[in-house]
Amino acid sequence: MANDTKQSMQGFGTRAIHAGQEPDPATGAVIPPISLSTTFTQPAAEVIQGFDYTRAGNPNRNAFETAIASLEGAEYASAFSSGTAVTSAVLSILPAGSHLIASDALYGGTYESFAKIASKHGIETTIADLRNPHDIAGLFKPNTKMVWIETPSNPTLRIVDIQAIAQHIHQHNKDAFLVVDNTFMTPYFQNPLQLGADVVMHSVTKYINGHSDVLMGVAVTNSPALHKEFQYVQDCMGGVPSPFDCYLARRGLMTLEVRMDRHEQNAIQLAEYLVNHPQVTAVYYPGLESHPQHALVRRQQKGYGAMVSFDIKGNLDNVNRFYKHLKMAKLATSLGGAESLVSSPVYMSHGHVPPALRASLGITETLIRASVGIENVEDIIADFKQALDNAYLKA
Ligand SMILES: *Cc1c(COP(=O)(O)O)cnc(C)c1O
Repeated sequence: MANDTKQSMQGFGTRAIHAGQEPDPATGAVIPPISLSTTFTQPAAEVIQGFDYTRAGNPNRNAFETAIASLEGAEYASAFSSGTAVTSAVLSILPAGSHLIASDALYGGTYESFAKIASKHGIETTIADLRNPHDIAGLFKPNTKMVWIETPSNPTLRIVDIQAIAQHIHQHNKDAFLVVDNTFMTPYFQNPLQLGADVVMHSVTKYINGHSDVLMGVAVTNSPALHKEFQYVQDCMGGVPSPFDCYLARRGLMTLEVRMDRHEQNAIQLAEYLVNHPQVTAVYYPGLESHPQHALVRRQQKGYGAMVSFDIKGNLDNVNRFYKHLKMAKLATSLGGAESLVSSPVYMSHGHVPPALRASLGITETLIRASVGIENVEDIIADFKQALDNAYLKA
């Protein structure tokens, strides 16, 4: 759906509430209703008035796509049934025999899509540490069609310089495009299209919906050609979200700014608490001055987000005791909801990533990933404190 440019000069929080969301002309309802109908009547055989069939488009999907395009400062957005469905959509537009380059620090499912699915269809992937962006120069092949980076990465919060990578691509391989997985940042904290990326993808499942009750993804771009391809994939491969999920995600967006501010304030305080904890051996958080890429973080991002990973002393037994003693935060694999969650990437999100790659990314058996929620921060810190204390008491 094309962005409504008259709204693009308003502030982020204002657009998050109003872009693509006009009162319902039929009833005046301030919040547009959920259009559950799968089909829409046409005035003539060859004329479509807005919509014909929900797989191709739906009022609630339009409202969500318009809003997210506006928030990324983009022209177009295409929603899919999950973040993973966006990855599939992007792979499906590559010609057979293509080569792609991906940063090594990736969401586990994205790694699998490249290594196990795309490979079956003749698409070759080079996985590389792109923290030094100039390393990419040696990786291009004549058939390189796409570069995919995730920054900050899941779960050890590594950063890739979006602008430098985009410059290399546009210099070396003009018909390759750059995709940035912006899930951890949301459009509130990072806008990769403005740094030269061609496509931004989000797992809407996470912060954008924000309430751990919708599975959805979105691809955002300024390229009419790529947008046309994504729309075609929506209609012809069919991995689209339901109107109800689009309604919920549009509703979640309205509070994105206030949620992200609170998430981040809480994350900064938890990260600072953990840094000083005697049982914690490492804390991964872009907002810490000790983050090895903190200068790049400050240049590239407008905020630090709320994913904090940390490594603890001991072994898996201590990790499980920590989980068992948590009274509020839950052991669960997702992130970006109002509630605080913790997880073990080595067994959960990154369980299928090869052990050697996992080790090089700092994903150890004692690494804990926290999705810091928007509860009162005193309660989050108190919960982590008592669970860490208990994790080391003799049974
Ligand atoms: C969850 C996640 C995905 C996959 O999205 P789904 O909606 O779960 O399919 C992709 N990238 C990142 C960074 C994620 O956290």
